[in-house]
Amino acid sequence: MDTSDKLEEIFRNFPGIGPRQAKRFVYHLLTKSQNELSEFSTLLTQLKSTVFICPSCFRFHTQKYALDQSGLCSICRDQNRNHRQLMIVARDIDVGALEKSRAYSGRYFVLGGTVPILDNDPASKIRQKELLQLLTDKEFDEIIIATSINPESEHTATYILSLLKKHYENSKLPKVTTPGRGLSTGTELEYSDADTLRSALENRR
Ligand SMILES: [Zn+2]
Repeated sequence: MDTSDKLEEIFRNFPGIGPRQAKRFVYHLLTKSQNELSEFSTLLTQLKSTVFICPSCFRFHTQKYALDQSGLCSICRDQNRNHRQLMIVARDIDVGALEKSRAYSGRYFVLGGTVPILDNDPASKIRQKELLQLLTDKEFDEIIIATSINPESEHTATYILSLLKKHYENSKLPKVTTPGRGLSTGTELEYSDADTLRSALENRR
């Protein structure tokens, strides 16, 4: 396998990228100058050392926000937010969309994925252990399960709900809500516009 084949394979594993697009990416890179490619490669090398994962919500954040030793992101450190309200989302990018809508001012938890239907090891597909730890460490008045509207995401939401029920078996289950179905079937949270997200959150139940 030569270099271009290897790159093509890497691109093919990117979310939403098929074999044809992967090939186009490689051809696109071939049109770039050596300097541009060197810069690209330097950025890739630096990426992991300049972006951190928040130890509380597990979203990625950049160093400029990590001013204190805790490593917490700006959202988790913001005292003006409601820390008794928790929104569980599948991916980091969903936080971005929700923050842009300005419809929510609580804290988040990023699952880091979804649970495939009929999966026999769901705990390994999401940050289950970390979520349960957060629920043990902090008290919440409301937990919002905000997943996209497709079968796998909805299956994930059901799975999370069962985890919550089990976790709070011997204590009071906080109010658990989901965004209203202003979001139509097939809706990816990350692609929803601010107004849609706002009304879905206002109509949560
Ligand atoms: Zn955080």
